[in-house]
Amino acid sequence: MKPVLYIVVPCYNEQEVLPMTSRLFLDKLLQLEACGKISGESRVLFVNDGSKDGTWDIICRLAEEDRHFLGIAQSRNRGHQNAVLAGLMEAKDRCDITISIDCDGQDDINAMDKMVDAYLDGCEVVYGVRSKRDTDTFFKRFTAEAFYKLLNRMGAEVVFNHADYRLMSSRVLQELAGFKEVNLFLRGMVPLVGFKSTAVSYERRERIAGESHYPFSKMLGLAIDGITSMSVRPLRMIISFGFLVAILSFIGVIWALFQRLIGGTAWGWASMTCIICFVSGVQLISLGVIGEYIGKIYMETKHRPRYIISERTWEKMNRGEDEPGRR
Ligand code: UDP
Ligand code: MG
Repeated sequence: MKPVLYIVVPCYNEQEVLPMTSRLFLDKLLQLEACGKISGESRVLFVNDGSKDGTWDIICRLAEEDRHFLGIAQSRNRGHQNAVLAGLMEAKDRCDITISIDCDGQDDINAMDKMVDAYLDGCEVVYGVRSKRDTDTFFKRFTAEAFYKLLNRMGAEVVFNHADYRLMSSRVLQELAGFKEVNLFLRGMVPLVGFKSTAVSYERRERIAGESHYPFSKMLGLAIDGITSMSVRPLRMIISFGFLVAILSFIGVIWALFQRLIGGTAWGWASMTCIICFVSGVQLISLGVIGEYIGKIYMETKHRPRYIISERTWEKMNRGEDEPGRR
């Protein structure tokens, strides 16, 4: 039996690129189908992440034009990670494999052939890894590479230069569904699921049209989220740093006593101010790190849904036979 593939594509305000990239996704699906690697029941599943432009209308039109296109809409914008998860969870009972990919044409669609081949060879997870970043600006490349290094240093196990372009089997998705955290960082969660995995490399291109939704501030937010969702190493670092400051303070105390004994204490104002500023700075940063974790615990204890699907194209069209088969 040939495997059923679902290509899961999160879309947020992508009306400029969607008409172009949807064709590319469909062509790739048909090509894989024609070489006999995947089943004819394979689909492209768009996830509209609460777009404010005409993205959902385009998705609905595509679904009406061609049965290979399906779409679901989130009830509001929840961010890329939640949109990908919504698509994967919707797909997991209807297919054998999923490939998640951004809808802006940056990730080379031809890597899908290698991904499907790796699956047919027995791999359950195939990570798409960027071989070059020539098209990114120096700043984007530098910050992005620093991001992966920092994540690994901080104990969040991630695949270097892999974003969310990856193949996962339905078996992996069933297990991923058991990871109930609300703070999502799929790049860190998928390696934790395990199973046989491999990586395929591809070249990352420039966006076909539209603008990136990930400016530096959002990337920094994702890095902090990634680290604090996946690891408690920053808390341990506070302890080590606390010890270091304590040792320095102890040396400072001995130095102060010595100065007192030799009668040179009158000029101590500047050093005192420096120490107070330094220690209070350290304390505030430490409190901030602890606060970040408490915030995470608070959000997790609420058990809020990670996504809410408001519409599905096959329900909207109200044609029973178009409901993609559940297993
Ligand atoms: N995206 C989303 N919800 C958001 C922001 C982005 O679903 O709130 C989607 C977006 O449509 C795209 C993908 O996530 O398919 C990656 O976003 P983008 O290309 O802007 O990020 P970059 O590639 O610049 O990091
Ligand atoms: Mg992009």
